[in-house]
Amino acid sequence: MNLGVVDRIRAAVYEVEHHTRATAPGAGQYTGEESRVYDWARRHTAHLEAEQQQAREAIIYRQGLEHAIAAGDTTVIRRHPCPQCGCYGLYWRAEARRAVCVNHYCTDDTGVSNTWELKRLAQDHIARQGAVARRAT
Ligand SMILES: [Zn+2]
Repeated sequence: MNLGVVDRIRAAVYEVEHHTRATAPGAGQYTGEESRVYDWARRHTAHLEAEQQQAREAIIYRQGLEHAIAAGDTTVIRRHPCPQCGCYGLYWRAEARRAVCVNHYCTDDTGVSNTWELKRLAQDHIARQGAVARRAT
């Protein structure tokens, strides 16, 4: 049993539970299995504004990225375009815990490569999905 994994999953469940109660106070304590917490969160927040549902989905998606990276699969980063330049040249820099853009022209004012937190990649990803879903209806 890897304690790091247990702690990470526990922290992930706590975050979802906390976020759900913050947006839907009636949700109460989560007492179910860890693997069911996303269902629980969606059930208790399904009535909320689209924006709040997107925030929930962005957390769930970000946790998926975190789990994949913790399991050694950093290729999940490459599926996301750089939020600044749009290229698919992001790679994971483990020590900084950020995605780095490989594009030489994609830098900040001091010439340092732009880097992104998983949170930002997840928010952009969910926002794109939302835009697609809205166009489809
Ligand atoms: Zn870039």
